[in-house]
Amino acid sequence: MDDAVNDGLLDLAVVGAGPCGIAVGVAAREHGLTCKLIDRGAVTQAMMEHPTYTTYFSGPEKLEIGRVPFTTAGDKPTRREALRYYRKVVAFHDLDVVQYHEVGRIERYEGRFVCHTMSREGIRRDFHARNVVIATGYYDNPRSISVPGAKLPKVHYYFTEPYPYFDQDLVVIGGGNSAADAALSCWREGARVTIVHQFESLDRGVKPWVRPDIDNRIAEGSIPAFWRHVVTEIRPGEVEIRDLDTGERRVLPNDWVLAMIGYIPDPRMLIELGVEVDEPTGIPSHDPATMRTNVPGVYIAGVLAAGNDANKIFIENGKLHGHLIARVVAERSDG
Ligand SMILES: Cc1cc2nc3c(=O)[nH]c(=O)nc-3n(C[C@H](O)[C@H](O)[C@H](O)COP(=O)(O)OP(=O)(O)OC[C@H]3O[C@@H](n4cnc5c(N)ncnc54)[C@H](O)[C@@H]3O)c2cc1C
Repeated sequence: MDDAVNDGLLDLAVVGAGPCGIAVGVAAREHGLTCKLIDRGAVTQAMMEHPTYTTYFSGPEKLEIGRVPFTTAGDKPTRREALRYYRKVVAFHDLDVVQYHEVGRIERYEGRFVCHTMSREGIRRDFHARNVVIATGYYDNPRSISVPGAKLPKVHYYFTEPYPYFDQDLVVIGGGNSAADAALSCWREGARVTIVHQFESLDRGVKPWVRPDIDNRIAEGSIPAFWRHVVTEIRPGEVEIRDLDTGERRVLPNDWVLAMIGYIPDPRMLIELGVEVDEPTGIPSHDPATMRTNVPGVYIAGVLAAGNDANKIFIENGKLHGHLIARVVAERSDG
């Protein structure tokens, strides 16, 4: 069915209702712009997919949007608190969010845009807007390992809970926060965890309150770590790793692999719209003062703007894009 509902011509259609998309919605409302947020899932769908027991590294005040106070039981928000908080922000500002509609294609015609969406029940709906903001984040697109066996079902790119790994041989690839959290959590629930990381130590950005815990587990041998090693092949029951310095190979018993090596934004929607994306960095062409791309009427918000170095933009600074965009769109519609 193609109902192609015409909800009127919006000032802004925002693709993605993550924290940075929500910040655009709040800023649009404050500037008197008509705006719809469209998400393939629920509000903050990507954060819903974060590990169940995540405690964020940012203090609650850093994650606040739209002057809605964020209070938490501890110093740092848990995933559960953040999911509740962003729903409160959406309700408080009465944002218009179309949930469970994936934007497949955006067409440009006569200086306007039509966002073609499909609901999870297969219903198509079109949204027309003068301007579009792409705020699709990075979490749908994990960096993948390309070695033989990487597609085996025991290889996971998302970690949600440690319980499946009890009494199992688990290799965690990576050395950042996600790898450290997953390794500790699984080890505590009875997994035999080995870390394999291409660099000589854990990343410097590992949360300071996690660092002593993971360092001590590694030092005491509870969680063996192979630094400057890469996984070269994944096979049923085992993985092969290689020392980057000596070339020496060794085989580890293995039931599961958690590849915690990060996520990168998928620029395809932007490229289809004519936005230029810098090849080496993956950064879409845009003016950081307005978040406007090289295509008139197309803006970007949130972590997408960071390109392949996705850790440069996160909620703390990505939420600031909303006001930059709403201000310039409001100025242009005044003129
Ligand atoms: C475990 C973990 C801990 C983190 N801790 C922190 C922290 O402490 N502090 C911090 O600032 N950041 C933190 N981050 C990073 C932060 O979560 C991201 O930077 C943030 O979510 C980016 O917000 P966003 O709105 O740009 O994108 P996202 O939150 O990824 O939202 C993008 C939205 O777009 C939707 N979408 C994608 N494609 C489509 C489509 N085609 N059609 C419709 N909808 C679509 C998705 O469903 C999603 O809801 C953490 C990340 C992880 C993984």
